[in-house]
This record gives sequence, C-alpha cells and structure tokens, in this order.
Amino acid sequence: MKGSKGTLKGYRKRRDFSQTPEPKGRPVNAGKKRFVIHEHHARRRHWDLRLEIGGVLRSWAVPKGPPESPGVKRLAVQTEDHPVDYIDFEGVIPEGNYGAGTVEIWDTGGLELLEEKEAKELKFTLDGKRLNGTYYLLKLSSGKIPGDKNWLLFKAKG
Ligand code: MN
Repeated sequence: MKGSKGTLKGYRKRRDFSQTPEPKGRPVNAGKKRFVIHEHHARRRHWDLRLEIGGVLRSWAVPKGPPESPGVKRLAVQTEDHPVDYIDFEGVIPEGNYGAGTVEIWDTGGLELLEEKEAKELKFTLDGKRLNGTYYLLKLSSGKIPGDKNWLLFKAKG
C-alpha cells in the first residue's frame, strides 16, 4: 500500500541549506519503496529509522537502535518527515546546525508497507542487509498527550 501523504515543511524549517550538506529534497512517490537506518553521531548517538511512505521518508529516532530479533521493544521517537533523497545521505552536519554530527548509513534496502492505521500503527517488511522481516511501529498513549511522539518499534514473531 502507498500510505498517507507526508510533508517537508518541518524538515525545511529546521535547516539552513547554505550551511548543511543535507538535501533540500521534494516529495516523490514512484517506484519501489526503500528504507534506511542512519547511525547518527549527534550530541547523543541514536539510530534514525526512515521509511519511504507517502512521498517522503517518515522518520523516527531510536535511542537504543532497532531490534534485530523478535521480543525486543524499542522506543522510537517520531521526528520530522525527510525528503526521499535523504535515503542516500551520509556526511557531517556542521556544528551549530540542527542535528550536528556524523551521519552514516547503518542499513538500507526494500520496504513494503503492509498496513497503516490512523497514523498510529504501521506494519511493514524490511529487506535489508542487517534487518529482515516484518516490523511494527505502534504509537504510545493513543494521542492522550498532545504532540506526543513516542512509538514502540518491534519485530514480529515467526
Ligand atoms: Mn538523528
């Protein structure tokens, strides 16, 4: 399935493209879908999971890294949608800029979105070098706290 449409307003608002080597990007929705996980050596190291859905990369910061086996649940904090061409980005975001630090691709590959429920539940398969199989992202607290961005990321059994 295609998934609901994303936006790049939040992404562009946070960045000065005369300063950062990151792509400005535009929404694109064609061809096979992909995912990427960036290892981001920012002030605190984390992993950014990005899924190509609705013409953008839906993004979550995973402080402890993505689970490689079932039974492990990880906090995933939703961040702003990124442009699809961010999928190939690696480099150094200069000091003083949003997300300053080194960005490296930790894994990338094919993505198939299986289900999207009311922007609070995603089911998808990853076909990467490190991560393979069906995964879930579930939004926590079902919207009781306005602006709450916390999700759980885990791998399906079997
Ligand atoms: Mn990050």
